[in-house]
Amino acid sequence: MSERANLSRSPSGGRGFSYEVIARRYRPRFFEEVVGQEAVSEALQQAIVQERLGHAYLFCGPRGVGKTSMARIFARALQCPEAKAGVPCDSCSTCERIFRGEDADVLELDGASHRGIDDIRELVQHVKYAPSSGPYRIFIIDEVHMLTREAFNSLLKTLEEPPAHVKFVFATTEPEKVLPTVMSRCQRCDFASIAPSDIVKRLAQICELEGASPEDGVLVRIADLARGGMRDSQSLLDQLLSFSGEGPTLEDLDRITGRISQARLRELVGVAEEGRTGELIPLLGEVLSRGTDPSVLLEQVVEYLREQLHQGVGSDWGDVEIERNLLAQEILQEARQRMRRIDRADIVLELALMRIGTLSDLVPLAELRRSLASAGGGAEGTLPSGGPGAPRRSAAVPSRSEETQRPVSVEKPAGSSSAPRVETPGARLRRGFEEKAEARVVVGKPATVVPGEDSADPKARLFEEVSGYSPIVARRLRQECQLLEEGGKLRLSLSPAAHKILTTEGQFALGRWKKSCQQEVEVIVDSRLSTESVETVSIASDEDSEPPEIVSRAAEIFRGDLIDGGQRSPRRQKATEARPEVLEGERE
Ligand SMILES: [Zn+2]
Repeated sequence: MSERANLSRSPSGGRGFSYEVIARRYRPRFFEEVVGQEAVSEALQQAIVQERLGHAYLFCGPRGVGKTSMARIFARALQCPEAKAGVPCDSCSTCERIFRGEDADVLELDGASHRGIDDIRELVQHVKYAPSSGPYRIFIIDEVHMLTREAFNSLLKTLEEPPAHVKFVFATTEPEKVLPTVMSRCQRCDFASIAPSDIVKRLAQICELEGASPEDGVLVRIADLARGGMRDSQSLLDQLLSFSGEGPTLEDLDRITGRISQARLRELVGVAEEGRTGELIPLLGEVLSRGTDPSVLLEQVVEYLREQLHQGVGSDWGDVEIERNLLAQEILQEARQRMRRIDRADIVLELALMRIGTLSDLVPLAELRRSLASAGGGAEGTLPSGGPGAPRRSAAVPSRSEETQRPVSVEKPAGSSSAPRVETPGARLRRGFEEKAEARVVVGKPATVVPGEDSADPKARLFEEVSGYSPIVARRLRQECQLLEEGGKLRLSLSPAAHKILTTEGQFALGRWKKSCQQEVEVIVDSRLSTESVETVSIASDEDSEPPEIVSRAAEIFRGDLIDGGQRSPRRQKATEARPEVLEGERE
């Protein structure tokens, strides 16, 4: 049971051999110095003053927010012979020994590395001995949820009838894993994540004491990266000062955390957003070949998009920009989850960035409606937002008058760390995609044999399976697949694009679905199923007469969400040239 923090480290950045890490050197010595945990400090101090002490405490909260520091301060307040009103003197030998983790009456155990029953038995042995100097023997067990079940049970016996001189302080990042029987015998104290502004304030104090003056924005970035953990933020500051001396820059911080420079990031996101795939692949390859971790890069892109969104909604962004940004973030969230399941994180990231490029073609629902409405009176009757034939899903769709008022409300959060609360655009965008899929049927998508409505049928299960891996791909798939049953055999026809996705990154979803079918499944590519050709076919099928204005107009607009449009038909090109103002984004 020795001190777990590093006692010394190799000299660097002009620091001597006796150098102590910052997190240790600036460890709080008093209750009020534990940043952001005033409620817990107050409760513990009051318990001491009013002599209403429990015999076991459970400190719950994220890592690095001061649980162990608080446990030691609590121990000092209990043990210090000079303590007054729950405040340790901080100058006697007891205070100093406890602060250093060297006091014989205050025993610390790391539950993560000493999780077995023998470790706990050994600890319990100490319980029966009277304290050597102070009034109590205090047992601090960190990461207590890591203990084995046997170890917990062994501990429980002591917890049921503890000697009067014994106090337990357990700390955990995962209280739900602590046995309920243990939990019920403890007084629980919940530690909050520390607000980034509090972390920045503390880091600034430390920098001043260290004689360091970091570039603007460095401390904010550190607080961001540490995600509410004071200890992590101080460790990072420590590394940074060791790396770059007294004037660390943002570039230095990027370098030590394995992140790419802001200029590079801006370039990469720009290329991705504009759908310049030809440039994206080599650029990403170059960045990753320098050892950048794809998951770290993904987080950087997410942060970058969030910053863009915050700035955008505060300035002149319209619906389209907001919706595009939200959808891009959604793509990255999916990629983040997929990275945990798939070895090739680089491929997941590459595909995600390529998909973001397809958003440059996005047309929002409101605009689609307006375009249709201006194309002819009563045109919106063909969309599922009204009329007797409207599908159930459209119940959530606001009326057309609401849409034309563009009720976008985006609140900028008070703290910069929390996710933006965006009221409607994302949800509206998703509805837009769904409605487009349905509206496409109105335009003339060929009927499929297997309807895909009943959850027991194979098509519904396919959508479900693919949806679990990517809602975006599932939406696309709904429009670009056909399932036929022939002689006890299933034939799944996919558009070339859908086939490509489901045989590469979506292969596990497809594999699971195939297995669940319990009959032979054949997967074939059918280029007629690509959304491009569906429109072209449906418009061109009526050779004798021009399609109604509304149909060709709708077809143009639906082109807006195609992921990889192939060759456009001459008719479509002509239509595009005739009305360029309808289309969003750049055309190749
Ligand atoms: Zn003292």
